[in-house]
Amino acid sequence: MRSPPCRPLTGSWNQRTIPPVSTPSVIAIDGPVASGKTSVGRALAVRLGYRFVDTGLMYRALTLLALRRGIDPGDAASLGGLAAEAEIGIVTGAAGTARVLLDGADVTDGLRTPAVDGAVSAVSQVPAVRHAMVARQQRIAEGGSVVMVGRDIGTVVLPSAAKVYLSASPAERARRRHAELEGAKHARAQPIPSIEDVRENLALRDKADTERAEGPLRVAEDAVRIETDGLDLDAVVAAVLSRIDA
Ligand code: C5P
Repeated sequence: MRSPPCRPLTGSWNQRTIPPVSTPSVIAIDGPVASGKTSVGRALAVRLGYRFVDTGLMYRALTLLALRRGIDPGDAASLGGLAAEAEIGIVTGAAGTARVLLDGADVTDGLRTPAVDGAVSAVSQVPAVRHAMVARQQRIAEGGSVVMVGRDIGTVVLPSAAKVYLSASPAERARRRHAELEGAKHARAQPIPSIEDVRENLALRDKADTERAEGPLRVAEDAVRIETDGLDLDAVVAAVLSRIDA
């Protein structure tokens, strides 16, 4: 069989194969900002015919709601209440692309703004927020055939899943995130930040995500670790498939 053309990590993957019986039914992918989790998780899910769940979108949607309601990212009590009552829906299309509904309205294009980027890690630190999100994510994963990506999926949300930890150098991650913002700039009201500002935001989020008390980003002991610098999407997907076992 001819191999498909190589695609960059920001590309898409539409080829579907029947998963071999040894493929795990629940796959958790964790890693820092712009490590490739979303592109790789989506491509893997499409290829295996699994559902794809990007949990970062859930934290982002809640952060957007908090900002709209004027709730301070440090107000843990109000954020906990908001997390318990917010109606966050994720609708996944055929190629694994997700639209996010907040109380029924499509807010997808507002989730990657500098305002949300700047507040999301603070919102995500609140234990009551995490408890509400983790419970929802565990319900979503019931029934299996799912690839779920985030920061604490292998360690907290789905500890029995096959676990993958993706990482890449800070320079590469800033380059990818900046390219992603450039690609989506037609849908934005504000100018896109410089690559230096993007790198600074990534470093701040990494610090907050790894140092928080509840559900910090860390590598699960039994996770397969893959460095994605210099690898394209096909190569990372192939590495994941060859290294995870049911
Ligand atoms: O993955 P993404 O960068 O979109 O996630 C946005 C933020 O949501 C992260 O910086 C992190 O603070 C939070 N998050 C989290 N736990 C997850 C997924 C995302 O705390 N499982």
